Amino acid sequence: MSEPVVLFWYRRDLRLHDNAGLYHALRSGFPVLPVFIFDQTILDALDDKQDRRLEFIHHTILEMQQEFRAIGTSLIVRYGKPLEVYKELLNEFDIQAVYTNYDYEVYAKNRDKTMADMLYENGAEFYAYKDQTIFDRDEILTGSGSPYTVFTPYSRNWHNKLNDFYLKSYPTQNYFSNFLKTAAHPIPKLEELGFKPLNEPFPGKTVRSELLNQYKETRDFPAVRGTSELSIHLRFGTVSIRELARKARERNFTFLNELVWRDFYFQVLDHFPHVETSSFRPAYDHIPWRNNEDEFQRWCEGRTGYPIVDAGMRQLNETGWMHNRVRMITASFLCKHLLIDWRWGEAYFAKKLRDYDLSANNGGWQWAAGSGTDAAPYFRVFNPTLQAQKFDPKGEYIRRWVPEFNSLAYVQPMVEHTMARNRAIEMYKKGFADS
Ligand code: FAD
Repeated sequence: MSEPVVLFWYRRDLRLHDNAGLYHALRSGFPVLPVFIFDQTILDALDDKQDRRLEFIHHTILEMQQEFRAIGTSLIVRYGKPLEVYKELLNEFDIQAVYTNYDYEVYAKNRDKTMADMLYENGAEFYAYKDQTIFDRDEILTGSGSPYTVFTPYSRNWHNKLNDFYLKSYPTQNYFSNFLKTAAHPIPKLEELGFKPLNEPFPGKTVRSELLNQYKETRDFPAVRGTSELSIHLRFGTVSIRELARKARERNFTFLNELVWRDFYFQVLDHFPHVETSSFRPAYDHIPWRNNEDEFQRWCEGRTGYPIVDAGMRQLNETGWMHNRVRMITASFLCKHLLIDWRWGEAYFAKKLRDYDLSANNGGWQWAAGSGTDAAPYFRVFNPTLQAQKFDPKGEYIRRWVPEFNSLAYVQPMVEHTMARNRAIEMYKKGFADS
């Protein structure tokens, strides 16, 4: 068999620079081979064979392969179930250990546990590192050592604890000579994976300087480019969270605080995995949702008759992205105005968002439904008309996505606001009484 090696397993950390797990692999004393697996289980679950996320990953893998070729090594790219792929790799290479970065989702945690056991049985180690967050699981806890369930005190503690140590970069480039020198391994085409490209441009990786100056003032207005649009890069790790947080710390507290929300929802998912399928607060599992399928369809298609809701849903359907303020409005409308179970909306966003991340999406939906951490009182119901007046005062965003707005062609509101608000409060109360 060939010489002993360690593998670095890429998952949602698709970059060579400032990568914690890769850094440790490169310093292991063994030559390193990088690996990426197109996970068959995840690909099979994607209904739409034109998927922005998969295309983004594929495109990134090709770019990374060029970087690897320039330093004389190659990414090994396989398609299949990770456990089976690693069994094959164990036959092909003398693997001492597999290095990777933590993943906080239930599916991933189970997969990694099974993988670690299988490798151990075959004489190889499995090492995972914190890379996608600044602080994880047990680093930000209450005085009594429990996880936070409310954002504001969590964020206070997060900011207090932050120092240069947590933001330091992992200088992988100093150890690139420790990659195994090898010929190029083949990479399957997107079509060979059963997908077709959309060929749309992806957002850039750098945070615009003027954005960091103005973020606080611009972030809530969907008609302007007032947010970073880095979410796809943070989702797949093409941008280092440490590098971004360093810039944010120097330039803009409000922007840095958005990154704290991201850490917060990761630790919620990690500590309270039940949120993946049920409400963070069990009492909210008893709300008598109406779950009308026709109404859900109208919401999905952006035909509710509430222009800001329709604009958001059409932006999502056409681009795979929606502005944060509008995510809050559309989500609230579904849960409160239509009394449709937040999990239906969560699943729809999961299918469509190019930045879909279980922790942030689940956190956002449970926030909107009022069933999650930091719940706004359930009787606070967003008024979509007032939200539009406040955050899209000239109607520019609405006209961009709903051109027929203000014409006879535009649909009537599917539900009257005051009635819907009262009905939501009534049903939420009923849910609590039944819990
Ligand atoms: P910016 O405003 O530039 O923020 C910078 C980064 O901070 C984002 O890229 C993101 O990584 C992080 N961030 C900002 N706000 C939040 C937040 N509330 N929670 C967690 N992280 C945050 N974000 C996702 O990344 N994936 C999702 O699947 C997702 N689903 C959501 C669903 C709902 C119902 C709601 C209300 C919010 C959701 N968010 C999600 C959070 C937020 O809307 C997006 O992160 C943001 O709109 C992405 O655009 P941006 O990169 O321009 O954000």
